[in-house]
Amino acid sequence: MGEPGSPNPHQNIKTMQAEIIAIGAELLLGATVDTNSAYLARQLTACGVGVGRTTLVGDHVEAIAAAVREALGRADLVICTGGLGPTLDDLTRDGVALAFGRPLEFQAALLDQIAARFAAMKRAMPESNRRQAYVPNGARVIENPRGTAPAFLVEDAIGTVVVLPGVPHEMRYLFEHAVIPYLRDERGITTVILVKTLHASGLSESMIGEMIADLMSQSNPSVGISAKQARYELRITAHAESCAEAEALLAAASSTIIERLGTNLIGDEPLATTLVKLLAQRNMGLALHEATPVAPIFRALTAVRGGAEVIRGLVVHPLDQAADETAAAALAHAAAASVAGRWRTALGLAAQPVSSPDASGLTAVSVALVAPEGLVRQTTRRYDLRQPEGWDFVATLALDLTRRYLSGEPV
Ligand code: ATP
Repeated sequence: MGEPGSPNPHQNIKTMQAEIIAIGAELLLGATVDTNSAYLARQLTACGVGVGRTTLVGDHVEAIAAAVREALGRADLVICTGGLGPTLDDLTRDGVALAFGRPLEFQAALLDQIAARFAAMKRAMPESNRRQAYVPNGARVIENPRGTAPAFLVEDAIGTVVVLPGVPHEMRYLFEHAVIPYLRDERGITTVILVKTLHASGLSESMIGEMIADLMSQSNPSVGISAKQARYELRITAHAESCAEAEALLAAASSTIIERLGTNLIGDEPLATTLVKLLAQRNMGLALHEATPVAPIFRALTAVRGGAEVIRGLVVHPLDQAADETAAAALAHAAAASVAGRWRTALGLAAQPVSSPDASGLTAVSVALVAPEGLVRQTTRRYDLRQPEGWDFVATLALDLTRRYLSGEPV
């Protein structure tokens, strides 16, 4: 890796492309959340099959047929879920048959299976369940031991469509017991996909994007960034024919990212977890002073394992009024020193906002860190504290200042 533009032999590894179509009026009405597509996307990705698009369609034969045809125009494999029930508005069978230009065909063996399920439940089979014994001509039936709706698979020169029921536990069972074996045994899907997540802070998302633009524009390994309150997750995904090759791709991309981001790269674990470990390794305690009842630093630290143990004391004191940034900085410094002295901790950390926002609605907040050698870090930044997430940015800033100090980063 390393040099931008250097040839990557894994860049063109061929991955099967799939699309997912979730069918049902209730999905379009928002009455049911489409969790099936999310499950299928995760599973397909883990099998090394790329998911190019997911679509929601109502219970209309033409709409289903059009969605299937369009998806087959782009992908090798289309997985449909829902609309296989016995009622007249369950039209997935009809839509898929129309997409392939094949008639629906009655399969007596299927009706026997459905009847046997009703017999096992000691219930009479309603006549409407006969509908479920119809599948497109030439389709391969996938038996459904979890429900009455049989699933099926249609293979054709234009592509493959797998049709699964909508009931989530039935759909998952059939995906795991029928679709995965099909992909492995008949489609030779043996690709290994490994994902590694790195955590960063202290830069903007666009700055990170520019620093690793070459990695972000390549497809294998691919790198994506997601941001949450000034903390960033860089997800590296590698496809290869073996674990060792995928690991080598991940290792090369991570070392490039680590080198480029320098001390802004936190590591394999999120900021709060990393800081708690750094404090625990050094047997250092932390005392906090937060000039807001939201107590964002306390909340961020206690949300992770071991966080409560490194905090030796907390003062929540929302009454101090800082007229301006200078006053906020002085109060933050004094408060950090005061809590460190009160609980005799190595570190005192304080956050103090200015009492009112500026004309643009942003409030300056000063964060100070005191260590045995005195005030070691202090920063003042402006945040929109009208949004509840605004305080999470303050927590990120405070935890990151402390992490950098403990990592020995020069000021
Ligand atoms: P069955 O014959 O067993 O009802 P089906 O394929 O006809 O199977 P649907 O009638 O489409 O399934 O849906 C049955 C139930 O499954 C829905 O009421 C809903 O609760 C759930 N469901 C359907 N589609 C989805 C989806 N995409 N995501 C999550 N849940 C779903």
